[in-house]
Amino acid sequence: MTIQEASGRPLADIAAGLDAQFERLDLAGRLSLAAELGRAVFTTSLGIEDQVITAAIGIARLDVEIATLETGRLFPETLALIDETEDRFGIDIRQFRPEPADVDAYAAQYGLNGFYESVEARHACCHVRKVKPLAQALAGATVWVTGLRRSQSGNRASTPFVEYDPDRGLIKVNPLADWSLDHINAYVEEHAVPTNPLHKRGYPSIGCEPCTRAIKPGEPERAGRWWWENDEKRECGLHVPEIPAPSLTSSSL
Ligand code: SF4
Repeated sequence: MTIQEASGRPLADIAAGLDAQFERLDLAGRLSLAAELGRAVFTTSLGIEDQVITAAIGIARLDVEIATLETGRLFPETLALIDETEDRFGIDIRQFRPEPADVDAYAAQYGLNGFYESVEARHACCHVRKVKPLAQALAGATVWVTGLRRSQSGNRASTPFVEYDPDRGLIKVNPLADWSLDHINAYVEEHAVPTNPLHKRGYPSIGCEPCTRAIKPGEPERAGRWWWENDEKRECGLHVPEIPAPSLTSSSL
């Protein structure tokens, strides 16, 4: 029986009392507690911090499902890392893809790479290729585990360990909220965690290939994501209250 089933309390109330408890635990302890709350799904981008969480789940055989959003625009290195990681830890990473009809409707309205033309077009692409598949990945889950860290960007500086996500109606757990990049690198070294070779080529944060560039020395970790936009808080809509998606001509959206 999960903590939610045993207590009968709303998820928002359960989440509100857990942050201090998570702070005292190590990574495996945080993930174990997340799994005790109910069905837990970790969504990985295969970035280095997400690889640390995947390793912790795989090494301790924790009851946390692992899913990724295969947007159709990922780097070949990222796709290869999915297979390598599954083999390394003996785990299954479920892949969620966009609906072909949605992709076609987007391309018809904006062009396949229309995201360079406007913020609206970029949000529409992220909605089709990420936000909608994310909803499928999280369907039926009680807990969403993410690799968000406070030091990744100013937008993430106040990331809590546990929060209630009212838009998705689940508890969001960020077990690496207080981890630095040095801490992440030390874990990777200690546990021989496979990582994306792009990290060593100047890509600390890796998303879709057409929307990610290497950063220059001294730039923030996420400066290479949607670099052509000026908004310092640019995100893809996964970790912010949902950005209203511009309507496409497809009836499937
Ligand atoms: S990151 Fe770029 S290619 Fe990927 S879904 Fe968003 S706009 Fe589309």
